[in-house]
Amino acid sequence: VDRYTANLLLTMNDEHPDPITCGVVDVENDTVVWVGPEADAPQVPIVNRIRIPGLLMPGLVNAHCHTPMVLLRGAGENLPTDRWLREVMWPREARMTPDDVRLGMQLGATEMLANGITTSVEMYFHPDAVAEGAVEAGIRCLVTYPVFDTGPPHDTPLHEQLDDMVSALHRWHATPTIDIGLGPHAVYTVSERGLRAVADVARAEGVLVHIHVAEGEGEDADERARSGMGVPELLEKVGILENRTLAAHVVWMTDDDIELFARHNVGVAHCPCSNAKHASGVARVEDMRAAGIDVGLGTDGPASHHRLDLFEEMRTASRLARIHFRDASRIPSSAALTMATTGAADALGRPDLGRLGPGSKADMIAINTSAPELGPDFSSSNAVSRLVWSASPSVVDRVWVGGRLVVDQGCVTSTDVGELSARVSDIARRISQA
Ligand SMILES: [Zn+2]
Repeated sequence: VDRYTANLLLTMNDEHPDPITCGVVDVENDTVVWVGPEADAPQVPIVNRIRIPGLLMPGLVNAHCHTPMVLLRGAGENLPTDRWLREVMWPREARMTPDDVRLGMQLGATEMLANGITTSVEMYFHPDAVAEGAVEAGIRCLVTYPVFDTGPPHDTPLHEQLDDMVSALHRWHATPTIDIGLGPHAVYTVSERGLRAVADVARAEGVLVHIHVAEGEGEDADERARSGMGVPELLEKVGILENRTLAAHVVWMTDDDIELFARHNVGVAHCPCSNAKHASGVARVEDMRAAGIDVGLGTDGPASHHRLDLFEEMRTASRLARIHFRDASRIPSSAALTMATTGAADALGRPDLGRLGPGSKADMIAINTSAPELGPDFSSSNAVSRLVWSASPSVVDRVWVGGRLVVDQGCVTSTDVGELSARVSDIARRISQA
């Protein structure tokens, strides 16, 4: 085994609710085989010993993103969401080639890795290129194949979009860091007929369905006016919720909608920074968690909200809830950190991510606990609150995905980031010109 020994080990695993002083993680291939105090560690042959002077914890899980949108960062600022999509995003996206998307994904993935994110859930055009960019950067990725059927600029026939996902299952089967799913964009961009077809294919292939749900007040109101149903009820009617479903944003929810999502075990990706920047609203996170819904945090795409930074999302989730209710007890740091790790992993149906225990993937981050921003006197008893309220990505020192070192001393080892940034800037200039 490879043995990682850390001054503090935070497992996010129910068996060890508090950080372990002098903790050990044993890893075989890409999987954790043992965790616990060093004094109890099993006597086994050790191939590599890795010492972590700070804190070792599971990598963060980004439950909702469109990472190649680093190519569009900053475009269309301050527009309402529907105009921002139709007037700024979609025309530029129509000019992107698969190679553009691959390079945008690779660059955004290096940014996420350096920020301590080891898994991202993606929904974007040219999904094979998304998977290729993820593999080149070294991040773990759930690539959901986008589905749109309500017209230009995304006018590939529905059956071709679905066939593409089915063939991708075979293409990516042997790549352990890539999972494949379906990403019908939203109920306002996929017809009921399209959603039924998505539900059927997802059921037949056993894949996750990833969809935007009730992000804006208008989306919720339009759907109620059109069909007499809220978005959750429509998704139930067309059979989507018979599949493992990950719903993103989920801002405008009634009590009945929450109860319906809990009944169908729908996972939720809460995107507080994006929701704030787009003025979408404050999602009912605590009500959803109290109903038993698995809630994770998502950054959303870097064109929606510039950063790919789950430290900022954790704080923003707490701040929004506290301002909304004028109550400083809302979303304590333990709940915020759970949403960035195990909550997100469970929301996407991957209990082997977001926590460290036997059978978990060896996706880990080492935190430099002597960074001034974590002081004074960082310790086992204040570790969780400091990680949520004080930390920024600059405290992330090393990152492993499946036991492979991909960030060392804060720098990504897989990619020449400077050269790639220059290429991405060229692409961004090209696609911004009509
Ligand atoms: Zn989104």
